[in-house]
Amino acid sequence: KEEYMMQSERLTMAGQLAAGIAHEIRNPLTSINGFMKLMRSSKQSSETYFDIIESELKRIELIVNELLVLSKPQRNHTSKPLNVLPILDQVITLMKVQSALKNIEIIFNGPDAPLWIMGEINQLKQVFINLLRNGIDAMSSTGTIYVSVDSNDQEVLISVEDEGIGMTSEQIQKLGQPFFTTKETGTGLGYMITQNIIHNHSGSIQIESVPEQGTTFTVKLPKISKPED
Ligand code: ADP
Repeated sequence: KEEYMMQSERLTMAGQLAAGIAHEIRNPLTSINGFMKLMRSSKQSSETYFDIIESELKRIELIVNELLVLSKPQRNHTSKPLNVLPILDQVITLMKVQSALKNIEIIFNGPDAPLWIMGEINQLKQVFINLLRNGIDAMSSTGTIYVSVDSNDQEVLISVEDEGIGMTSEQIQKLGQPFFTTKETGTGLGYMITQNIIHNHSGSIQIESVPEQGTTFTVKLPKISKPED
């Protein structure tokens, strides 16, 4: 019975996702169609029409690319022992390029000794890229994002704390539903992907958010002992 339940839930999720995709892709398609017709009837091609069509095509491309991340192998076939500290270090280095443009500082706080987990490195990087990008997006300019790592006997805890616009409880509820976004150019797929990857790593994610003050995401992943080489 439980299996049946899980399957029906999965179908609902797939149905929701399919409806969302159809809708999100139909909008730019309709607009491309419209502008193509305009260009044909006006007999002269205007630069503006090209610009609009190009940006609508880019939008479809963005959505499709994000969906491809979701369709990557669900189970961690390439799961390996990983030290989370250098992974975070690499992601932060990468994201500092973007945060610096907005005068946002990213400060890392973690232990010196390695902390080991089982995982797929690129998927985990994707999680922290998503969380940091959302933190940067949430801040208009100037401020700090704190990335901290901690651990207990069973878990490694990684938190990403921003000083951004925060979220209302309605927004928190909708977070993770496919295509929920408050951003003009957002896809509303990032957090769903984040949740998916963490779930595949037998972990969990928590959110604490205060409107106008900021948001903290805490990722918990099962800790393993130091691997033998
Ligand atoms: P996207 O970034 O494309 O909108 P996400 O699924 O990553 O998609 O996020 C969905 C929505 O959740 C965002 O549009 C935003 O409203 C909200 N959100 C996510 N992270 C944060 C954050 N750190 N601070 C404030 N709002 C956030």
